Parts: sequence; C-alpha cells; structure tokens
Amino acid sequence: MASNRTVDVLIVGQGLAGTVAAFHLIQRGKSVLVVDNHHHNCASKVAAGLYNPFVFKWITKSWMADELLPELENTYRGMESMLDAKFFHPTGIERIIASSNEQKQWERKSQRPDVASHIDSNFQPLPVPDKGFGRVQISTAGWLDLRTMLSAFRAYLSENDWLIEESFMHDELHVGSPNVYRDISCSHVLFCEGAGVMNNPFFRDLDWKHTKGEVLDVSMPAPELSRCLNYGQFIVPLGGQQHRTGTTYNWDVLDFEPSEEAREKILRNHEAYFGARPEVKEHRAGVRPTSADRRPFAGKHPSHPSIAILNATGSKGVMLAPWSSRQLVEHLLDGRPLHPEIDVARKIGGDA
Ligand SMILES: Cc1cc2nc3c(=O)[nH]c(=O)nc-3n(C[C@H](O)[C@H](O)[C@H](O)COP(=O)(O)OP(=O)(O)OC[C@H]3O[C@@H](n4cnc5c(N)ncnc54)[C@H](O)[C@@H]3O)c2cc1C
Repeated sequence: MASNRTVDVLIVGQGLAGTVAAFHLIQRGKSVLVVDNHHHNCASKVAAGLYNPFVFKWITKSWMADELLPELENTYRGMESMLDAKFFHPTGIERIIASSNEQKQWERKSQRPDVASHIDSNFQPLPVPDKGFGRVQISTAGWLDLRTMLSAFRAYLSENDWLIEESFMHDELHVGSPNVYRDISCSHVLFCEGAGVMNNPFFRDLDWKHTKGEVLDVSMPAPELSRCLNYGQFIVPLGGQQHRTGTTYNWDVLDFEPSEEAREKILRNHEAYFGARPEVKEHRAGVRPTSADRRPFAGKHPSHPSIAILNATGSKGVMLAPWSSRQLVEHLLDGRPLHPEIDVARKIGGDA
C-alpha cells in the first residue's frame, strides 16, 4: 500500500464511473489514487454493456444521445489505445420490431434526419426470425466489454502504484484543504461508489431509486450472431457459442443475489423467441445506482467543496459515464459550470 502520499484526486470506487473519471484526470495530467474494494457483483461487472441512442419502449431518442455518443467513442477508443486492449464494440444493434404500431412509428420517425442518421437501411439481417413486422438496424449502437475494460485499467493502476485494494472508511476522512485520509493528502476526494453510496455519510441521503438487475451468460449452438440483437430482450455475442442475455428490473429487492425468478423470466423469453433454452454458464445480479429523476449525480458537495461525486448512471452507464465524467473533470479543474440536470446541487442544499 502507498504511504505518505500527496495526490490531486483520491477516487473511491473503480467501477465504470471511477475508471472513466480516473482516465480523464490522468489525460489532464493530474495524479490519482484509487481505493476500491472489488465488489464481485458491482453493477459494472454485471452489466451487459450495451449502448443505444434509442429507448425501444417508446421509440424515442434517449436523453442527450447526440452529445453523449461522440464523447463515448472518444473516451473508450482513447482508453483502448492507452491500455493496448480491445473492449469497445461499435457493432450496431438489430431490433426485431414487436408490433404493427411500432413498425408504423419507425417508418414515420425514420423520415426525420436526426433519427435516420442512426439507422442503417442497407444492412444484412441476422439469421434469426422476425415477428412479421420487420427489423431495424441501429448503426450507432453497440456494446462495451466492461469486465475486460475494468481489469485492464485495474492492472494499469496497479502497475503505477495508483491503486489501493480495500474498503474506504469514511470516518477516517478529514475533509479540508487538503483532505487527509490516513497518510494520504489530496485536493479532492471523488466518490464513485455506485450502490455502495448507501454507506457514504455525505451523499447517501440524495434522492436514490436503485434498481436490481440480473443477466445470464449462456451457450447456444446456433444461430451465430455477429452483432447485438434486441427482440424484446437483448442478446450480446461474446464469441463462438457464448452470449450474454437479459435483463430484469426490480425496485423492491436491492440485494446482489441471483434469483430463480429472474433466471426463469430470462430463459422463458429466450425460449419463446429462439424455440429452445440455452445452457446457462453464469448468472449474476447487481444493483444499478439510480437517482429518482434518472439523471447522474455529478459535482461538488455544496458544504464541502473538496469532495465530489460521480454516480447514478442508472441503466445507461456506458453512454452517460464518459460525458458526465468530462463535465465533472472540467468543473473541478477549470471551474466550468455543470449541465444543470446532472449537477448534484439540484438535490442537495448548501447546509446539507
Ligand atoms: C444487470 C445489469 C445490467 C446492466 N446493463 C447495462 C447496459 O447494458 N448498458 C449500460 O449502459 N448500463 C448497464 N447497466 C448499468 C451500469 O452497470 C451502471 O450504470 C454502471 O456500471 C455504474 O457504474 P458505477 O461505477 O457508478 O458503479 P459500480 O459499478 O457499482 O462501481 C462501484 C465501485 O465502487 C466500489 N466501492 C463501493 N464502495 C466502496 C468503498 N467504501 N470502498 C472502496 N470501494 C468501494 C465497488 O467495489 C465498485 O468497484 C446494467 C446494470 C445491471 C445491474
């Protein structure tokens, strides 16, 4: 473990948010030290990693999609090149249209240039059945192999002695200028604890509405999928016969335990579409860190400006983390105002 150190930013949590923030800070020439307790089922290790500029349920663009996509691509490509690893897969997602109403909506909306620019109209369909209403290929979608990204970044931090693998103890932090945590001094502490925020005395009382989700890694002999598919449920090709599929949403039970109910639900959906059940290789459950207004929390604590948060990326972490992290880093280093919809100040008073 490092000792008697002074760093610019001490980051708590090396999930997606902490990893992307560390990358952006390092790019800006700042020194970082990351404390992470390696929760085996943290959301980032469970997530499918899909990104998609549309909300299929409503056939609308997702919030800020056109701003988030370029930042996403720059960030993940930049990380791949720094780490000499491959985890960004901009393969597109093929959506199997579910109803005549959805079909009409796609026909109508795809006339609009801001929708048409995300759709590939000359694609080669995947060798899977449709439901009689056709399919649409979202060309600006894809997936991020989060487990590969997190472990490559973890190795990079470790090689540089920028990682402490243990739990951060909030009661040992002396907030000030500088902050002091044990024998470490830092200008800022950045909390990126995901659902672990419930142990954080500074930010646990924000308006949280976490969501449990479960995914299965399965093996199925055919068909071979060359890109992600959504037929009501997603399926991501991991190579060969291996695929990841799900997911579920549960707002009531917020534990990290895989449940029989979720497994059955995912397998039933799979069977109804593919005609057979796949072999389950792995079943994971995690908690999506989510705010009640479904926007990330980024920014400084109003009463303690030397501590900050980046959290609440909900079910869209892959898209939201890079842009929110850039906003936060420019806010901390350059004083640039945050987008008001992600600013944590919207939910925390000056006297909190
Ligand atoms: C089933 C499921 C499917 C999902 N699918 C997708 C998807 O397809 N696309 C998408 O964009 N998003 C998806 N998500 C959401 C996505 O996973 C999250 O938005 C994102 O990963 C959250 O990252 P995070 O870094 O904020 O939190 P986390 O991933 O939870 O990371 C927090 C980190 O902080 C550490 N930590 C916490 N407390 C402490 C402490 N006191 N001391 C030290 N370390 C600590 C934890 O060990 C962990 O490493 C999914 C989530 C789930 C659960």
